[in-house]
Amino acid sequence: MNHSDWLARSRAAVWHPCTQMKFHETGVLPLIPIARGQGAWLYDFEDRRYLDAISSWWVNLFGHAHPRINAAIKDQLDRLEHVILAGFTHAPVVELSERLSALTGKMLGHCFYASDGSSAVEIALKMSFHYWRNHGRPEKNQFLCLTGSYHGETLGTLSVGDVDLYREAYGPLLRQAITVPSPDARLAEYGETAADVAQRAAAGLEAALAAHHASVAALIVEPLVQGAGGMVMYDPEYLRLACALCDRYNVHLIADEIMVGFGRTGTLFAHEQADIRPDFLCLSKGLTGGYLPLSVVLTTDAVYAAFYDDALTRGFLHSHSYTGNPLACRAALATLDLFAEEAVLERNRQFAERFTGLLTPLAKHRQARHFRHCGMIWAVDIATDDPEFRLRFYREALHREILLRPLGKTIYFMPPYILDEAEAALLAERAVAALDAALA
Ligand code: PMP
Repeated sequence: MNHSDWLARSRAAVWHPCTQMKFHETGVLPLIPIARGQGAWLYDFEDRRYLDAISSWWVNLFGHAHPRINAAIKDQLDRLEHVILAGFTHAPVVELSERLSALTGKMLGHCFYASDGSSAVEIALKMSFHYWRNHGRPEKNQFLCLTGSYHGETLGTLSVGDVDLYREAYGPLLRQAITVPSPDARLAEYGETAADVAQRAAAGLEAALAAHHASVAALIVEPLVQGAGGMVMYDPEYLRLACALCDRYNVHLIADEIMVGFGRTGTLFAHEQADIRPDFLCLSKGLTGGYLPLSVVLTTDAVYAAFYDDALTRGFLHSHSYTGNPLACRAALATLDLFAEEAVLERNRQFAERFTGLLTPLAKHRQARHFRHCGMIWAVDIATDDPEFRLRFYREALHREILLRPLGKTIYFMPPYILDEAEAALLAERAVAALDAALA
């Protein structure tokens, strides 16, 4: 089979995600069959290569084909590939739960698993509502979310989302959450700091809580960086204030760290930077190093206790077939080993400093606005009226061996944590070249 055979067969048989399929036919959007991956690079069937600068939709932490994670999965494969997690348990899921709980300082000691990020968010929403119901407060059945928030694309998660592109068509199917102001640091007025914007947004949250707390189960946030909404970054002060307000008004705080978890913002978990404890922590993506679908919701003893009872229906009767899959758990354990044994966060800090320097020409580009950076995420908005900018830039970047997928007019970088000096320099240089070509 060659390159073009795979293209034709894929177009005929595979309905690709988040894609207007006709764009593949007309060539507006190239389709690239990938034969193999190694480190930060993806290779097609003609051995053209692409630097995976978005970690394959933000999942890959240590590169493709990492020997440690590969070996862990292969070892598990010969022991137990899968077993139902209702009524049965297994070593990888027990060990992973213990280690994740320890990483939260044992404050979130109960792990409920699913297979993808959206399912984890659904679980947190259902658990929060059900907690209040079990406490005789069934009227607490609404949710608060931030403007521009994104928590997935199932109906429940779209209901707590605020990105029109994904939500608009399904509006009639949704029970929309109450949106409160985003602490987006770009909203700073002259003389204001990001912390000032955070305080202003928290005042908006307080007003919403004062008005609606009796009917609100939880506030859901993406800590520090709102991803799909445009890599919106904000000050940790917002999380401190929001957490205190949720406590005051008896409303849960759900931290959706599906994108920002596992070192993306500079700390293992983003909420650590605000020194807060959410009631629910949703993790996925980097959890398995980007290998296998796995997600988890960690929660408190108090939430767990609300379901612990003689009555079946006070329990959390939610399940997914592949809950806690052993292969995925082993990939996750190998990923946690890498964090434990290699000074990943420190290495990332040093890399980030150098990479920010390398991105100076992009930050200073005449059409660049609001260059921003948090941990291992960099973003910049491009001032252009071209509605085709996103696709134009995407094609120009691919043409230069770079995989970067702008969100609207925001170019962002979310590379795996293993780029060497040469790869970092190549990425930074070619991104500017692609930008110039896309704008020409
Ligand atoms: N929450 C956030 C913050 C996300 O970035 C995503 C995925 N981009 C999700 C939830 C949904 O995860 P999944 O795509 O695995 O369903």
